[in-house]
Amino acid sequence: MWYAADMADRLKNASGYNYQTIQPQFDWETFKPRRDEYIRKLTEAYARNFGKDGVEYHDGWGRLVDKNTVQVTRHDGSTYELKADYICIATGSRPAVPSEEAVPGATLGITSDGFFELEKQPKSIVIAGAGYIALELAGVLNALGTQTHMVIRGGNVLRTFDPMIQDTITNWTEHTGVNIHKNSKIVKVEGTKVGEPITVHTDKGEVIQADYLLWAIGREPVTEDCGLDKVGVKMDAKGNIIVDEWQATNVPNIFSIGDCQGKALLTPVAIAAGRRISNRLFGPEHFKQDKLSYENIPTVVFSYVGHLLMHSIDHSSLLQTPSNWHCWNDRTSSQGEIWRLHQNMYVSEGPSRHRV
Ligand SMILES: Cc1cc2nc3c(=O)[nH]c(=O)nc-3n(C[C@H](O)[C@H](O)[C@H](O)COP(=O)(O)OP(=O)(O)OC[C@H]3O[C@@H](n4cnc5c(N)ncnc54)[C@H](O)[C@@H]3O)c2cc1C
Repeated sequence: MWYAADMADRLKNASGYNYQTIQPQFDWETFKPRRDEYIRKLTEAYARNFGKDGVEYHDGWGRLVDKNTVQVTRHDGSTYELKADYICIATGSRPAVPSEEAVPGATLGITSDGFFELEKQPKSIVIAGAGYIALELAGVLNALGTQTHMVIRGGNVLRTFDPMIQDTITNWTEHTGVNIHKNSKIVKVEGTKVGEPITVHTDKGEVIQADYLLWAIGREPVTEDCGLDKVGVKMDAKGNIIVDEWQATNVPNIFSIGDCQGKALLTPVAIAAGRRISNRLFGPEHFKQDKLSYENIPTVVFSYVGHLLMHSIDHSSLLQTPSNWHCWNDRTSSQGEIWRLHQNMYVSEGPSRHRV
């Protein structure tokens, strides 16, 4: 989706490079099945590779029965048990949605999962949240021509990022046409059902009408109904599995990686942590101290300032100079603000991607 939107963005800007003005028309309805098919093929390829690597793949819901046993419930409801010396829990996370008590009508909203299910392009959307998922989806929809509103609690998007980046991305996101409702919370949603027009009310008294509301206000771990209580695996108040620096839970042979342990919710982090455990437990001697460091993990934000921003998420460095930032630039035009911010980082400009 990001590439599709990026394409639209470039076509819109092509006249700046002396192409005749292009008004791109994006066909969501034919694109969506092609995208789904691509994902399906990828998923199948992964499944095939499991087999090639000698990994057994079991399709069902897993629940710990004891510290060496997982019960698998198949889709038809039947069950069987698997035994293992070590167990690694990687059950991921799901998008958070406010309760109906907190925000009446909240369930009329969709989430990032619902975004990928949309068969038709919304004409208008309200996105609640200021994190990288909210920003990415707002950017995609806006670039594709959906009238896009963001409702954010603070004055800026990306509030865990460097203040200069917050300011710049917030300003540029507005400049590209996203209507950001700042210092606002959604207090009520009115409508009949998901997919029908809705009316969103904010605590500042604003009333926004749109086709969809999308909640992107954070993610919560999927750790309930997994039998963790049966074996006493400890979780924090939010339900994240508590692990030490070795990804070990309080139960000696049970480990946890990925979003369900609540740290650095990123795909490569989950993969890297999994590799380290595997190396350590089953690899040669020189891997016996292998573990993932969670310091200085870079993250990429897909935003429509013509950049992918890469940032250290070591929070101790947040107030330092921008020297911990790296940036890829895709365009020469209109980027003065970012260039000035990062002048120490760049050696050249140009229409192609440069990395410093
Ligand atoms: C819109 C969006 C954009 C994102 N963009 C990026 C990005 O650009 N870069 C990036 O690095 N990260 C990105 N992320 C985050 C990334 O998707 C997650 O960090 C990553 O998927 C976490 O991997 P995981 O294996 O821990 O969990 P998941 O990928 O969520 O996988 C967990 C799996 O376990 C299954 N499961 C759960 N419970 C059970 C059970 N009891 N038994 C059997 N199976 C179970 C779930 O169904 C799921 O298939 C994005 C996330 C979202 C929502």
